[in-house]
Amino acid sequence: MSFSLRTHYTSQIDPKTMNGAEVTLAGWVYEVRDLGGICFVVLRDREGRAQITLVKKRTDPELLETARALVRESVITTTATVKAEAKAPGGYELIPKEINLLNEAESPLPMDTTGKVEAELDTRLDSRFMDLRRDRTTAIFKIRHETLQAVRKYLSDNGFIDVTSPKVVATATEGGTSLFPITYFDREAFLNQSPQLFKQILMSGGLDKVFEIGPIFRAEEHDTRRHLNEATSIDIEASFCDHFDVMTILENMIAHVYAHVKEHASGSLEILDIDLQVPTVPFPKITYDEALEIVNAHGEEMLKWGDDLSTLSEHTIGEHVFNEMGVSHYFIIDWPTDIKPFYAMPYEDRPKFSKSFDMMHRTMELSSGAQRIHVHDMLKKRIESQGLDPGGFDFYLKAFRYGMPPHAGWGIGCERLVMTMLGVENIRDVVLFPRDRRRLSP
Ligand code: ATP
Ligand code: MN
Repeated sequence: MSFSLRTHYTSQIDPKTMNGAEVTLAGWVYEVRDLGGICFVVLRDREGRAQITLVKKRTDPELLETARALVRESVITTTATVKAEAKAPGGYELIPKEINLLNEAESPLPMDTTGKVEAELDTRLDSRFMDLRRDRTTAIFKIRHETLQAVRKYLSDNGFIDVTSPKVVATATEGGTSLFPITYFDREAFLNQSPQLFKQILMSGGLDKVFEIGPIFRAEEHDTRRHLNEATSIDIEASFCDHFDVMTILENMIAHVYAHVKEHASGSLEILDIDLQVPTVPFPKITYDEALEIVNAHGEEMLKWGDDLSTLSEHTIGEHVFNEMGVSHYFIIDWPTDIKPFYAMPYEDRPKFSKSFDMMHRTMELSSGAQRIHVHDMLKKRIESQGLDPGGFDFYLKAFRYGMPPHAGWGIGCERLVMTMLGVENIRDVVLFPRDRRRLSP
């Protein structure tokens, strides 16, 4: 696609076939190297860098003066002739006919964009627009884009309908304290912490298989490297299936995402120096009881049946699975009903256990899911027994009274999926403008 101010990205110039062609490039001044007799201006766009070469003897003095006076990170366009040059980035240099300064950058810059000086995460987030001009940061967001493309394609191809549920809601999904209250005209409302209740209602509506990629809001108590207060959740819900069926969809989707990213974002993976290994399916499944045994045998902490898994125990189990089975992704299934949300279906023959699962990646949870309770009275009792007010759930319970099919689903955090794929330490690195305890702007 050619725009009025640009005919090509730097990466679209093929020195073999385009030697001698005239092109117009647009971008930022990455650097100016003035060696007296020759001056190099490196132009950077989203896709890479190109060298503009001005030889004093052969260049119009006014043009040379413009080039020499360019300030780093200013916005320029150049109309130039492509010249194959093996030593230049991309295998070509540009001999300019004109260079136009569209907008000059102030100096000094708020941070370095060359990658020569590694800035702190906080500094980078404060000047995120500048940080995005670094190729490592751009690479992360190109990979996130390919990740979501792959998710959409995989789920659409498997018959899931893309839906959007409301983010302003009257009831807490799980009653938790982790909600952000807002003012909705003269009433109190909340930012939704999960599309859970709505995607279940859609099962009663007969949409059969749905997915949603959207924001979730959680007033998380702790400041960690894997929690955000605004995250992106990938959710599915499907009818006439059980928890094992949706686990199969989940592991295949993950494998598909990795393979897609490997194929479609190879340049970005290279910039990040990542040799991506596509995980093999099926992922191993261990039960909650087996997980407890692993933790207790390890001896760093002792858990009793019914305890939730701490961050430390998640690490212990993750390392154990990795050492024993050589894989990073695995499921923990059959959780105690009492520590899972009210909507998780208990096993008929052993109701203390639920048809629920978490999908893990070595050091953290990636996804939670379950077969859901589809029987109205049972669901209402579970809401009550978790100390919630069924009155607040009327709109939800109503959908269970007039023909709700058996159904199951899961939610996976998009940021956790990307951060574990790339081995990124802090979740904030894979969010454009992260929201956490301290950060509300930019
Ligand atoms: P955790 O125990 O790790 O805090 P959770 O069990 O509270 O997660 P769920 O309610 O099961 O989270 O949400 C499903 C998925 O959504 C999680 O497995 C995770 O990938 C993602 N997720 C949930 N909360 C957050 C958050 N605050 N920041 C980023 N991702 C989140
Ligand atoms: Mn969970």
